[in-house]
Amino acid sequence: MTEGQVIVGLEVHCQLDTKSKLFCGCSTDYRSDAPNTHVCPVCLGLPGAMPVLNKRSIEYAIRVAKALNCSVLPESEFSRKNYFYPDLDKAYQITQYDKPLAEGGYLEIESDEGGEKRIRITRIHVEEDPGRLVHKGTTESGKYSLVDYNRAGIPLIEIVSEPDMRSPKEARKFLNKLRATLEYLSVFDSEKEGSLRVDANISIKGSERVEIKNISSYKGVEKALLFEITRQKSLLRRGQKVDRETRHYLEARGVTQSSRSKEQEHDYRYFPEPDLRPLHVQSWVEGIVLPELPDARRERFIAQYGCSLNHARTLTGELRLANFFETVVAADPQGLSTLADTWIADTLIGELNYRTMSIDAVDPAGFTELLTLVKAGTITDKSGIEVLRVMLDQRRNTQPCETPAAIVDRLQVRKGSFAASAHSGAECLPVVDPIRTSIAEVLAEQPAAVEDFRKGKKGAFNFLIGQLMKKTRGCADPGELNRMLTEELTMKEV
Ligand SMILES: [Zn+2]
Repeated sequence: MTEGQVIVGLEVHCQLDTKSKLFCGCSTDYRSDAPNTHVCPVCLGLPGAMPVLNKRSIEYAIRVAKALNCSVLPESEFSRKNYFYPDLDKAYQITQYDKPLAEGGYLEIESDEGGEKRIRITRIHVEEDPGRLVHKGTTESGKYSLVDYNRAGIPLIEIVSEPDMRSPKEARKFLNKLRATLEYLSVFDSEKEGSLRVDANISIKGSERVEIKNISSYKGVEKALLFEITRQKSLLRRGQKVDRETRHYLEARGVTQSSRSKEQEHDYRYFPEPDLRPLHVQSWVEGIVLPELPDARRERFIAQYGCSLNHARTLTGELRLANFFETVVAADPQGLSTLADTWIADTLIGELNYRTMSIDAVDPAGFTELLTLVKAGTITDKSGIEVLRVMLDQRRNTQPCETPAAIVDRLQVRKGSFAASAHSGAECLPVVDPIRTSIAEVLAEQPAAVEDFRKGKKGAFNFLIGQLMKKTRGCADPGELNRMLTEELTMKEV
């Protein structure tokens, strides 16, 4: 390890996707319900209420332990972590302390240098989620806070890594891989808000370590770490030292801020939870059969469908995407796999990201039909992309969705029909001026895309072309549209 090297370790809290809470029968499906409607004497911490352990949550945690190559310990134990905070109604959290459920595993990620790299897992323990505070107004001007105990008692696992990551990018890859693994195990739903929260430890070799608390989205982790590296390096450059401290990440501003709280482990006065017996669950491990995990699926995609390593990595990096790919190629495994591999991993993901849409919004049958048209040579790749854009826009704007074949006919992009300048259709807009009008209309209707284009986003231009194609009902020559739109956009810039 060289001087100035960045050292990162993560503590990841994941909500387990069980039906009921960790120590009571309250439903975990609280997100769309009114505050304090999923509560009972146990999760409200009323005097005399006794916790009863949810067996399923321990099974789920063992699944994770097994997938992350950890050893489940012969005996683990719940402890009370004592502290007062309004979201913690009992004034203690039931967690695991010196006897966690599992220890000593690893997860493989793609390293910055390429190739696989092992990130060691220190431990996995089970605990309950606290409630949630809702602040009225901003932190500065807020008059009061409300508390919602619906989240109190939701089962969590905390996965603690060794400080094996050497860059914010590696931290992001670790989280992506971990998230995918948890989804493949069917124990976790990343679409649920707040289902994954991260604390990150970061230091520059030779200096003190800083803990960044409560990063509420996995996407915030890379940004928080990048900010912290810049801050720490600039302190060191000026001959100052980095304090060992806890900082909070302020997502909206993209900065970390020193926390006033200075609790240390011994302040929590941990002691074994007297209302719960120690756990002896090592024997469960053998009986738990794991499904196919991301690495195995990636290798299978390469072997079975001839995907490139990069495409296979992208496709299997998300459970929903991998399932979508296999649904599409199932129609014609020999014929479609090569095409589907590139079309999904490159084209479709790009178009979805541009529209901030998820893969769930795409109908596999329609997409398969589109690929079949491209494969049969009915349309070119380029026309195929135009058709795809129309399909996605219709879905996004909740318009009636046409079939790819209907869009092909409407845009007149069938090979040999010479789309572009075919002005025979009665509906078509024939001359240049109406196209200028359409461009002006589209630019007025899509100020955000124009703005994106100015910021250098290439996708924005393609999106505007897509909108224009729609408006001109495919009757204009795409080359001509390209030229005219470029002209309009650059003219407006001056
Ligand atoms: Zn309850």
